[in-house]
Amino acid sequence: MALIVQKYGGTSVGNPERIRNVARRIASFQAQGHQVVVVVSAMSGETNRLIALAKEVQANPDPRELDMVMSTGEQVTIGLLAMALKGAGCEARSYTGGQVKVLTDSTFTKARILSIDEAKMRHDLDAGNVIVVAGFQGVDADGNITTLGRGGSDTSAVALAAALKADECQIYTDVDGVYTTDPRVVPEARKLETITFEEMLEMASLGSKVLQIRSVEFAGKYKVKLRVLSSFEDEGEGTLITVEEERNMEQPIISGIAFNRDEAKLTMLGVPDKPGVAYQILGAIAEANIDVDMIIQNVGHDGTTDVSFTVNRGDFAKATAILEGVKATLGAREITGDNKICKVSAVGVGMRSHPGVASQMFKALADEGINIKMISTSEIKISVVLDEKYLELAVRVLHRTFGLDQQV
Ligand code: ASP
Ligand code: MG
Repeated sequence: MALIVQKYGGTSVGNPERIRNVARRIASFQAQGHQVVVVVSAMSGETNRLIALAKEVQANPDPRELDMVMSTGEQVTIGLLAMALKGAGCEARSYTGGQVKVLTDSTFTKARILSIDEAKMRHDLDAGNVIVVAGFQGVDADGNITTLGRGGSDTSAVALAAALKADECQIYTDVDGVYTTDPRVVPEARKLETITFEEMLEMASLGSKVLQIRSVEFAGKYKVKLRVLSSFEDEGEGTLITVEEERNMEQPIISGIAFNRDEAKLTMLGVPDKPGVAYQILGAIAEANIDVDMIIQNVGHDGTTDVSFTVNRGDFAKATAILEGVKATLGAREITGDNKICKVSAVGVGMRSHPGVASQMFKALADEGINIKMISTSEIKISVVLDEKYLELAVRVLHRTFGLDQQV
């Protein structure tokens, strides 16, 4: 007998029929002798609807009250799913985050989970119930309802699995696993049997939005066995997110090609080459709450240097305006920008033990005549910034170069 936490996303519980399907799936798990705790999201589109509604009343909604409104989406789903389970002959109980004491800090709209009291759930499970818990929500020490940030039900599920020491945390979604790259760009993309937590974090932060990043961090930290599966197919093992040691030994050096279209690049030319310059430029950007990704400073000559960095495309105009101000104070020469760029990355823990991956990547791009504008690397990732028009070509070429087209 295993204890399994299952999470169903908004699309999987998007209408009454789908809710009944999910209930049947859960009932069959329980019939196999497993204990099941289910975490659900709001029905698809519901959280967006609630946020829009709040904004109609107050243009910039008060965060505490917004959490009060947003958290109701999940409360509807847990009640409906518990009803469907009872209809399918399963004893079930629904609980809000507060009822199972998902204690969070008080950062409304992006609270962090501090602890969960698993005693009540365990008692109910032992009595033969399926437990249905509202994802995305918790309560702070004063009893205020909090939410965990968009996509936060994934983190709720992982946190519950950690608290209950569950055998596995299964995330049911509308894709059947994690792929080597986006199949819409490369039809040959394959589903991965396993991927490590580190690789998954890189893929997720690069725009592959299968799981909320925080849930992967949480699972890695607490060693929760995490699996992504399709809620629309009965077959298939999905993708297991695991530690490096348990990874399939046959796996290629590179696990996936990730990309992000949403990038823009800014450069300040002719900056005086003296201490504190990087801080003055990037400090001003950070103060405006703009996330900076890659940063490059050229070798100085004639007492000046150039500093380039990338930001989300949506922050391009704001960042440019801030740099204009800094340019005057610093006495820099010129600001240039480019918001038609993209980032393409090869990700794989295998590159730790295999030198030459970077040069293989650069050669493949050069052979296609693709110019690289910026490069950054980490232990398990090589990223390049390219002209946006090369995105599809670069992803396809790299997918092939690293042998990801082939079945292993
Ligand atoms: N319902 C929330 C959202 O749409 C949480 C989630 O779906 O995970 O962001
Ligand atoms: Mg989601």
